[in-house]
Amino acid sequence: MIPFAGSPLNRASEKRTDAKWIESKRRDPSSLVLPMWQLQPFLLGQENSGPPLELGLLPPEVADLVASDGATCVFLGLDHDRAIFALDVPLADDPAKAGPLAGRGYFRDARMAASFVSIKHAAIIGQAKAMIDWHRRHGFCPACGAPTQMMDAGYRRLCGKCNAEHFPRVDPVVIMLATEGEACLVGRGKQFPPGMFSALAGFVEPGETIEEAVRRELMEEASVKVGDVTYYATQPWPFPSSLMIGCFAKAISRDIKVDENELAEARWIERKVARELIQGVRVDGMLVPPPIAIAHHLIKTWALGDK
Ligand SMILES: [Zn+2]
Repeated sequence: MIPFAGSPLNRASEKRTDAKWIESKRRDPSSLVLPMWQLQPFLLGQENSGPPLELGLLPPEVADLVASDGATCVFLGLDHDRAIFALDVPLADDPAKAGPLAGRGYFRDARMAASFVSIKHAAIIGQAKAMIDWHRRHGFCPACGAPTQMMDAGYRRLCGKCNAEHFPRVDPVVIMLATEGEACLVGRGKQFPPGMFSALAGFVEPGETIEEAVRRELMEEASVKVGDVTYYATQPWPFPSSLMIGCFAKAISRDIKVDENELAEARWIERKVARELIQGVRVDGMLVPPPIAIAHHLIKTWALGDK
């Protein structure tokens, strides 16, 4: 399973417009609320105690100690009959340090937290992060500039002036491993940590198919021409709202010409090198992304000969 996929929750979308039901679940002592402070999820336990860690799902009466009545609270779904919410904690100072949550746990960057908790809880973090982040950035109507109001338990915003409706956005990104015979293409973005190489990626543009985006990005970034493009898997990537669409692409040749505005470097690596890299072995100073990223799974699947 790829991290941020595989949520255990029933999204119960038919309940979102039932404000009475949502409110009763929000007050129900058996419900659970995930506080998010500065887009970081709450985790239970002691900081620096190491993984695995528990997600900080709290009873409503505890979570409400750190949020005012108007704080953004999104319904994430049902875990059997138990409702799960994400709550944006609107405080400037860390409430886990000296506030009502002190001693219960701590807030941690969503990407790091997701790699510490179970795969099911990572999916809940991903949904909570993407939803709360979207509300924070969409307080005003892009059509007329007036304030918008949250509706449908968090899945719609409505402009009070022009009545325009706005829905949580998902931005498709293609991420593709080009292969040619026994080699695959990896590249280094300019902001990557030293030695880090990954599959190439880019946003899908309006009017473009996934296959066309794969071909365009490989041509733009590395001048690599590809034939067949095949779908591998997708990964929700809540930084802030991407859907990573993993693909394999059969290259026609190994010629590379890197666009220096896009990449620091690109190179073909042999399958045996890719196998070592996915096991965490550095080869020629290179390393590949950890399992939280779909790039790791693309490289691993090809390296192990499954593609
Ligand atoms: Zn408007």
